Amino acid sequence: MNPLLKSHLEEIFNKCLHCGLCLPTCPTYNINLREESSPRGRIQQMHYVQSGKIPLSKTVVDELYFCLDCQACETACPAGVRYGELVEDARNLIHDSKKDPLGIRLIKKLFLNGILISNERTKLFGKFLRFYERSGLRNAIEESGILKLFSNALSEKIQLLPSPNEMCFSESIEEIIPATTNKSRGRVAFLSGCIMNIAFGETHRDSIRVLTLNGYDVVIPKNQVCCGSLHAHNGELEKAKKLAKKNIEIFEKHEFDTLVIDSAGCSAFMKEYGKIFEDEPEYKNRAIALSSKVREITEFLSEVGLKKSPDTLNISVTYHEACHLVHTQKISRQPRELLQNIPGITFVELPESTWCCGSAGIYNIVRYDDSMKILDRKMENIKSTHADIVTTANPGCHIQLQYGIAKNGLKMEVLHPISVLSRAYK
Ligand code: SF4
Ligand code: SF4
Repeated sequence: MNPLLKSHLEEIFNKCLHCGLCLPTCPTYNINLREESSPRGRIQQMHYVQSGKIPLSKTVVDELYFCLDCQACETACPAGVRYGELVEDARNLIHDSKKDPLGIRLIKKLFLNGILISNERTKLFGKFLRFYERSGLRNAIEESGILKLFSNALSEKIQLLPSPNEMCFSESIEEIIPATTNKSRGRVAFLSGCIMNIAFGETHRDSIRVLTLNGYDVVIPKNQVCCGSLHAHNGELEKAKKLAKKNIEIFEKHEFDTLVIDSAGCSAFMKEYGKIFEDEPEYKNRAIALSSKVREITEFLSEVGLKKSPDTLNISVTYHEACHLVHTQKISRQPRELLQNIPGITFVELPESTWCCGSAGIYNIVRYDDSMKILDRKMENIKSTHADIVTTANPGCHIQLQYGIAKNGLKMEVLHPISVLSRAYK
């Protein structure tokens, strides 16, 4: 047995019944209909590597990075196979064996460990993006097609860069925002995150507006850092733990009942903090304590109920379910109800709403062609709704859908469900 893989994984492998019920739900299997690109096939490959029957070859590594880690197979599995845990551990093994594909290695070195690992560097990156966009350089480069001289894919990928805000969110807001109601219902903490902090300030403001209008004081601790989810999903568990430790220390300094998060990927991973410190007694209980307070924002509002009723909004809205919300956290009803309860809204169900959009963290950069095949299917479904607004609760999906909408020449707007509710609070 490979010592780098945890022994309890054997238990997970043995749960698989080889029934194949997960195959139709897997976006990569649907691309090529090959068993090795299916959840069942990947489980088999991981099991063989762990038991030493086959080496960790380039082919196996490629299959494990072809996987989106969308966890749709977990939702479909009748035996409760925790596939996500398997693939993330396998990616750690790949990292420790220095067998990551070149593209993954580069993105990890430059972006995950070069930028997101530090608050200051993330803010600098935001400033660079601002300069790139405001100076007109972005338009000039994208319209000139100059990058096509080097690579068509690069010329497309550059358009997936997020649009930065005028100012980094955490620098533009007080640390404590009081409730705007006569009586406070309690105090919640709020995660500003990394990419959301530099490019989704409007979504964060909408979240805080909704929370304060509904009676909550909000504390946004200064110096909090990236949650570490992108690191953990790409074989950099030690870096993810380093970030998690910092967040635990920072959030412990504040008193609050709930940690509210408006990014599906971040809330999913912060709910897992308790698990990643199983072998570190100093942090284990502290991590469990923080994880137990985490709620995704639509989940939180569904639990506590809205005190302020929304006004009428005469628009049609559809909803794309982020994988880390529906498959990882099993949150599906709450965002729909939040939207459906706004008077005047026509809610159009999105066909295949739980099918991945192809964003998957850094997947749309490192596996651009596969990501676009998956996005094309999503866009066909989105087009069929004829909705004014496409909602989604994860920044990666938000960027990917905006890109798909622009690419298809559609006139739809992409918003977080919380932003639609904020608009209904006129
Ligand atoms: S996580 Fe998604 S892409 Fe990977 S095997 Fe499961 S369903 Fe397929
Ligand atoms: S992972 Fe689950 S659904 Fe897929 S083959 Fe195994 S038991 Fe069946």
